[in-house]
Amino acid sequence: MINCIPTAKEQLKFLKNIQLILQSGSFSSTYKFALLISLSRLAIEKGEDSGEPLALEYSGIAEKFIELYWKQAVPYNFNDEGQLILNQNNGKQAAIVNRIIELRQIYSSLGLLRRDVAIWSKLVKDVARTVKDMPVRYLQNINGQNFEFIYKHAQAKQQLTLLPQVMFCLRQFSEIIEELCQKRWIDYIRKNSSNEPILNKLPNLEQFMFEPNRNQLNAVANVLVELQDCKCFYCNKPMRKGNYAVDHFIPWSMYPSDTGHNFVLADSSCNAKKSNLLASDEFLHKWRERNEEQDLIIVDRISVLGFLTDKERSHKVAEWAYAQGKENGYGFWSS
Ligand SMILES: [Zn+2]
Repeated sequence: MINCIPTAKEQLKFLKNIQLILQSGSFSSTYKFALLISLSRLAIEKGEDSGEPLALEYSGIAEKFIELYWKQAVPYNFNDEGQLILNQNNGKQAAIVNRIIELRQIYSSLGLLRRDVAIWSKLVKDVARTVKDMPVRYLQNINGQNFEFIYKHAQAKQQLTLLPQVMFCLRQFSEIIEELCQKRWIDYIRKNSSNEPILNKLPNLEQFMFEPNRNQLNAVANVLVELQDCKCFYCNKPMRKGNYAVDHFIPWSMYPSDTGHNFVLADSSCNAKKSNLLASDEFLHKWRERNEEQDLIIVDRISVLGFLTDKERSHKVAEWAYAQGKENGYGFWSS
């Protein structure tokens, strides 16, 4: 059979190869980490659990890059040193980051930038070109040797096609790949001496680079209080002011990217008990229903807060997460 699901041995070999790239590859910028994370997230959002190849538009990969770097391109103002931004490159700042820095001065959130269609399309196109010329070309090159196991580099112009079995392995190991890439990315930033002045003043680099912003989440809470009539999404009890938290329905530990439809509001007790678990199937149904019914409001009110809102995408991620959870025997939480 061609394109069948990879055997356990083949899957481990894939994971070993990823590790090899991260250990032995040369990194002149952080693009390669962004590329691996992007491919892994797209395999979840666009793919399925089969051994088939998967064609990805370069524009889709570019959007993932923009999402990742938008968060990290915040300028820091220090009295003595002026404005500083993390340097993502060995030499001068990486080109993609420079573009984003410029646009951040005009648009206060990614959501607002996306609404300016002409500027957004131009950015996506430029980033796609850089992605294709740089990390896509060099990712699978180790010490001058070609090591193509994710995609063949010389291929169609608009798309990057994941080789057979790769989509399956990325979906299977995305949590591990995300964590490895984030860790290496953070190490890279730390070791880059031009970042020293910032690092001394940034208490938690990991949080700054990858985790959701507290202020933004508080704004989401205000929207959800209204949508849920100030009742807990899980136990349905009325919530007191200040005694609730925004919950990632699909846990952040499984899929570390914020999307509007993934947020629900839970009282502190349910939120603490659910923690990093998936909620039981009845809540999955409730969540999907909520998203169908309130799609327009979520898109309208949460996207202006700077989050991507794409119901189909969120539901694809959920489908993947629940299949993973069931297959791997994760615990499910019911209130
Ligand atoms: Zn509750």
